[in-house]
Amino acid sequence: MKKFDPATELNKLEQFGEFGGVNPSITDSATYTFLGAETMVDTFHGETEGCFLYSRHWNPSNKYLSDALAAIEGTESAWVTASGMAAITSAILQLCNTGDHIVSSVTTYGGTFAFLKYYLQKFNIEVSFVIPTDLEALKNAVKPNTKVIYTETVSNPLLQISNIPEMSKIAKKCGAKLIVDNTFSPMMISPYKLGADIVVYSMTKFINGKNDCVAGAICGSQEYINSLIDLNTGTAMLLGPVLDPMRSSSILKNLYTLHIRMKQHSKNAQYLSERFTENGTKVFYPGMKEHPGHELLSSMMNKEFGYGGMIAIDLETKEKAYQFMEKAEKAGVGYLAVSLGYFKTLFSNSGSSTSSEVPEDIQKEMGMSPGLVRFSVGLDNDIENSWELIKNCL
Ligand code: PLP
Repeated sequence: MKKFDPATELNKLEQFGEFGGVNPSITDSATYTFLGAETMVDTFHGETEGCFLYSRHWNPSNKYLSDALAAIEGTESAWVTASGMAAITSAILQLCNTGDHIVSSVTTYGGTFAFLKYYLQKFNIEVSFVIPTDLEALKNAVKPNTKVIYTETVSNPLLQISNIPEMSKIAKKCGAKLIVDNTFSPMMISPYKLGADIVVYSMTKFINGKNDCVAGAICGSQEYINSLIDLNTGTAMLLGPVLDPMRSSSILKNLYTLHIRMKQHSKNAQYLSERFTENGTKVFYPGMKEHPGHELLSSMMNKEFGYGGMIAIDLETKEKAYQFMEKAEKAGVGYLAVSLGYFKTLFSNSGSSTSSEVPEDIQKEMGMSPGLVRFSVGLDNDIENSWELIKNCL
């Protein structure tokens, strides 16, 4: 069987502008006219193919981007949101009712962790947290009312690897849906093809790659995406976290260079990880043979895109991490900033930034050192020189 190639699937799409433009036209309209009143009623009930009613529901520009994302993921459909958190929260709320239960990885992005641990209490939705690499713990945490199993393919910030095929088996057995946040590893990993039911993204990161907007996406079956935008019961339709069509249009154009960018991010991250290791600095990078998730990731990945652009180094104390980051920014390594997937290298101290919502005792339990510095490695053309700069700051 020919292997799944997300970049080629995307390239097969032919989407034209209104006047034959090579880029689809931008539709910046909130509402749409009809020539027949009956057609409007049918569109309201979702019965008219290709017609648009109101942009909180569907917008042509958002549809183009959603179709492109569905092509990359191999899903039937997708829906784009105004942020990654909007994608994650809508995806979960659509599946859970009061009294339901979720099993989640404990090493998720801090905002996701806070939503699961604190916000969902409002709805009496219980969440059990497990280490994502511990499949036995996951099996034991499942309850009769478990509706969702939630994980990140490559976890934030420790870069642990989730075994998607095995998690999918556990989810299927208990009748729950497996939601996977694939923000760190677009194209590298195709979670839906590995058995996930729903794939969510913060497109703010690698997918857009320009750090000029916040956006998200939910990819899944047609039935599930339709349920999200159901007029009466759809979380996306009723909470309204729709992406602006201007942004959809710019993200769509950036999507077509994602495969090249991922290869370069991965190449640079692999290079730096090897140098950090030689230097005796403790490094977390799944491209290194010593990384506990290396073999698992190798078995799941679309190989040509490499092991991703994220690495973490352990400088033991917060003080050392702060000192290093300030020096590195001055030296021109990149920027001391949260977020990831940018063309320049970004670095931050996870414990005091992107994972600060995670209580210190849980950070400890997760194995997250206070001196952890997370790097989103950029597209540097001369990574040897970047390493020289980094080495001088260590
Ligand atoms: N998922 C992951 C893995 C993230 O790192 C982030 C943000 O940093 C999010 C989700 C949230 O995305 P957004 O900031 O676009 O809402």
